[in-house]
Amino acid sequence: MRPVWSARPAQRIVVRWRNTVPTYHYRCKNCGYDFTKQQSFEDDPITVCPQCHEEQVRKVFSAVPIEFKGSGFYRTDSGKK
Ligand SMILES: [Zn+2]
Repeated sequence: MRPVWSARPAQRIVVRWRNTVPTYHYRCKNCGYDFTKQQSFEDDPITVCPQCHEEQVRKVFSAVPIEFKGSGFYRTDSGKK
């Protein structure tokens, strides 16, 4: 007797991030170099600092995705008004 595959798992979880490359924030513990890198989920995290080449890079977790849209979201580099 063969099983009947009438109820097949058609409900797949579609990951909408397929074409979105997330930006990760890294910081080097050795020299303090601070940088962001766009990586896909399959990429290995960066561990070596591109500046001092020490293996001291840690991923910085930020709650807010890095997105620079519009004004009023700048840090200190836009100067004082
Ligand atoms: Zn470094």
